Amino acid sequence: MTRIYTLVNQKGGVGKTTSAINLGAYLGYYGQRVLLIDLDPQANATLSLGVDKTADKKGMRGTYEVLIGAAPIGQNVLHNPRFKISLLPSSPALAGAEVELPNLPDQGLRLRSALELVSDRYDYVLIDCPPSLGVLTVNGLAAARDGVIIPVQCEFLALEGLGQITATINRVRVSLHPELTVRGVVLTMFDGRTRLAVDVVNEVRRHFPNKVFQSIIPRSIRLAEAPSFGQPISTYAPESSAARAYAALAREILEQDGIHIPDLPEQGD
Ligand code: ADP
Ligand code: MG
Repeated sequence: MTRIYTLVNQKGGVGKTTSAINLGAYLGYYGQRVLLIDLDPQANATLSLGVDKTADKKGMRGTYEVLIGAAPIGQNVLHNPRFKISLLPSSPALAGAEVELPNLPDQGLRLRSALELVSDRYDYVLIDCPPSLGVLTVNGLAAARDGVIIPVQCEFLALEGLGQITATINRVRVSLHPELTVRGVVLTMFDGRTRLAVDVVNEVRRHFPNKVFQSIIPRSIRLAEAPSFGQPISTYAPESSAARAYAALAREILEQDGIHIPDLPEQGD
């Protein structure tokens, strides 16, 4: 059974892309077949995995072509056996989809339909949304068969704007996806030395009772560096605290999903 989760938060810089890549890489590490969909025209996930977004000039096709119906998803997925993750890449062309999709039939359901053709090849599909609540994110939400994962940065005003996400989720639930739920909230960029970060954790837990994952992602220089080396943290710095945190998040999700975790060395130990 394929599980499809969408990472969403209209704030930029909260750790959506970082979480999509590194959660994905660790789900892969634990033996799952993982497809990451880069749904952001800024193509951060694509670039962070070492794929050049200008490659579309050389014939690479990705999320944009899939959404407008110009290419099937299957042949355009790039698999990286070292990172244990597959990627449907983005490109700047995807920005055009915000304008073009409203003129196409079923504008909000195009990603979901495209995924139906390939999802049985994967155990997990993770969708990395742009920092907006436009038609691209609506496609991401409508395709989130098993729920949305909301990364929240452990900073001042962490909860600000979450009402807007909830409203958008409710809107998509009514119009496109009646079973849409919040799968969980991931706390990111936690700095345990600050009182503020601890307060934010408690506040977010109060706001989303039973929805906040136990695994909290620490603020980590290694995590910030990894994208410039085109790698997930699982290969760039597997011994780091951030790597351990994403590995723990992957195990937490696998356990909740009832998937047996193979006996592998815990990275970093
Ligand atoms: P979003 O996709 O929500 O815009 P990103 O995942 O791109 O956010 O993160 C924003 C920036 O913060 C990136 O430069 C990323 O490398 C960095 N970053 C993300 N998570 C962490 C973390 N836990 N510690 C340090 N830097 C982080
Ligand atoms: Mg991003």
